Amino acid sequence: MEQVVEKELLEKLKSNFGYDSFRLEQQQIIENILAKKDTLVIMPTGGGKSICYQLPSLFFEGITLVISPLIALMKDQVDSLKANGIPATFFNSSQSPEEQQQVFDDVVTKKIKLLYVAPESLPLLENILNQAYISSIAIDEAHCISAWGHDFRPSYKQLAFLKKSLPEVPITALTATADQATQEDILKQLAIPYATRYISSFNRENISLDVRPANQRVQQIIKFIEKRPNQAGIIYCLSRKATEQLSNKLLQNNIQAKPYHAGLSFEERAKTQEEFIKDECEVICATIAFGMGIDKSNVRWVIHYNMPKNIEGYYQEIGRSGRDGLPAKALLFHSYADVIQLRKFIENTGNQEVQEAKLDRMKQFAEATVCRRKILLSYFGELIEKDCGNCDVCSNPPQFFDGTVIAQKVLSAIYRLKGQEAMGTVIDVLKGARNSNILDKNYDNLKTYGAGKDISWKDWQHYIIQLINQGFCQIAFHLNNALQPTAFSKKVLFEGEKVQLTTPKEFKKEEKIATRKTTVKKQTDNSLFERLRKLRYRIAKEEDIAAYLVFSDATLREIEKERPQTDGEFLAISGVGQRKLEVYGGEFMDEIKNFLNEKRKNKKDTTLETYKLYQEGLTVEEIASYRNLKSATIFSHLSKLYLEGKNINLKTYTTPEVLKQVANAKKVLQEEVALKPYFEFLKEEVPYDQIRVALTILQKES
Ligand code: ADP
Ligand code: ZN
Repeated sequence: MEQVVEKELLEKLKSNFGYDSFRLEQQQIIENILAKKDTLVIMPTGGGKSICYQLPSLFFEGITLVISPLIALMKDQVDSLKANGIPATFFNSSQSPEEQQQVFDDVVTKKIKLLYVAPESLPLLENILNQAYISSIAIDEAHCISAWGHDFRPSYKQLAFLKKSLPEVPITALTATADQATQEDILKQLAIPYATRYISSFNRENISLDVRPANQRVQQIIKFIEKRPNQAGIIYCLSRKATEQLSNKLLQNNIQAKPYHAGLSFEERAKTQEEFIKDECEVICATIAFGMGIDKSNVRWVIHYNMPKNIEGYYQEIGRSGRDGLPAKALLFHSYADVIQLRKFIENTGNQEVQEAKLDRMKQFAEATVCRRKILLSYFGELIEKDCGNCDVCSNPPQFFDGTVIAQKVLSAIYRLKGQEAMGTVIDVLKGARNSNILDKNYDNLKTYGAGKDISWKDWQHYIIQLINQGFCQIAFHLNNALQPTAFSKKVLFEGEKVQLTTPKEFKKEEKIATRKTTVKKQTDNSLFERLRKLRYRIAKEEDIAAYLVFSDATLREIEKERPQTDGEFLAISGVGQRKLEVYGGEFMDEIKNFLNEKRKNKKDTTLETYKLYQEGLTVEEIASYRNLKSATIFSHLSKLYLEGKNINLKTYTTPEVLKQVANAKKVLQEEVALKPYFEFLKEEVPYDQIRVALTILQKES
């Protein structure tokens, strides 16, 4: 093949995928594949792996064979390619003989560029598995081939024969997760030892990280979702029961949520997944079974109702949000009860120690007092110099204080309880609770009983967890989770050692701000974005594809901002390629035109409405209160009408004195039009409305 130059790559990227520039190492990877070299691509979820093999396929003579583990994923990819005008199809054993024949014909006659297939179905493709038809092979989710990876699939083992039977065809292995051992294993098993490796950063900057204590998490979740109308999100729970209970509670609060777990029938699960992909159901409460194989780019948030058992799982799950690159949010609820529960799961399993160590790392992440992204990335062996600025620790750094007295109270209570009681009872004693457990055991006679009444239950929990983390006490998991002293406890109790604690976080402020934003948003729900979103939904429904395949949220946002009105302008939007311009451009531009016309008309209407009331003899205040508008708005209407030559007696709203002052200011301020400089120039003594009126009169007279 001739050398493909950068310009051609960029042209194809734009005309077929709608993008203007490559991300991460996409271009190098594509060039490597076009040079017919084997390639290993490790890129985080949402990084943009697909284009790496899809774009080269457009330059090859034969097809690109894509091995993908999940049928749902294949269908999605094929829909996406078709929406971009790239001929693609998939092959699987559930297709009828006629459908399968059609696939063969399309390959032989070179009608398609990409063919997706699951490894199990490969043997059925025997008659086209030769160099005459296949130019390139891509293996998606390549970590499935390795028993070292975390999703080992026996059917992937057979892929080794590909290199043997098609030695000239370049193989590209792609995955989002593979540590060193898994990488080596992938190359070995695929027999591509000299593959060029491209390992991109794991950092997903657009996902903001937040960890909160799990107090009243249902309430917190309801608030969180209410603040984000029309946004899709996933809530991960530890148990099937929790997914059911939570989705019910959300439903009771008018949030359309559905549960998803392995206990539901295949049909139910498929239906729920489909509804989620197509924006018909926006919130899913799921066990970890959900999300694998979903490419939906407009998942805006992921919540962990329970703590995941390791960082790999956590990172993969939050990675399902914000694939389109727009801001996304990951919220983790951290509770000690969860840690205890997870510990139990691990007990007596094969590799208990490894799992415990992983759980500990997860816990450290949840309890971090430094930038969370640093911790996360360092777990994957990646170091970042600066704090990220997009996690809760960065935006609300913990405040430390001298917590020695608090620590002494806790440790003394633990001693007096002889290290036999769990955290709940320790706090009950500190708070002087009068429940039967306390009274039956006569704990109300202890010296520390009631010593910490002034501190809330929640805050006690917060402090005790920190004391555990700092090693001043520990949980005996094998003794009903009793809190016990450690060697360090004595230092605090008897040797004067000081303890630093952090103050519990206040979330109220953040919530207030967010609530205010939502009210504003609700009022403007007839925004252009909302209209574009509805149009996208309608088109997707007609074509029976997922809405984000028509345009991603990122593309809709850009359309909203740029308001393109010609083909050229529309094509300049990121995410709009040639086919999407031709098929969708017209409708979207019509929607923009309608929106702008209505806006113009509304503006005109509202001014005329003011004029009518003015003519009826109402004062400015009366018009304002009648129309539920600010008087400043009414003054601006009147000024506009006055300039248009309507019969408005503006002079009654000002005095000759003010007119003179403003005229003078106008000279000094060199014809400034904004009001604020006048207000300041006039020593803040003349009200804004009067300045506006005076300026209008002066303008008309000049
Ligand atoms: P991955 O398979 O790595 O999880 P995808 O291939 O699904 O990621 O890509 C994630 C999203 O990013 C998709 O919506 C895709 O269209 C978009 N994308 C990929 N490459 C680019 C690019 N160069 N510019 C803008 N968006 C891109
Ligand atoms: Zn940070």
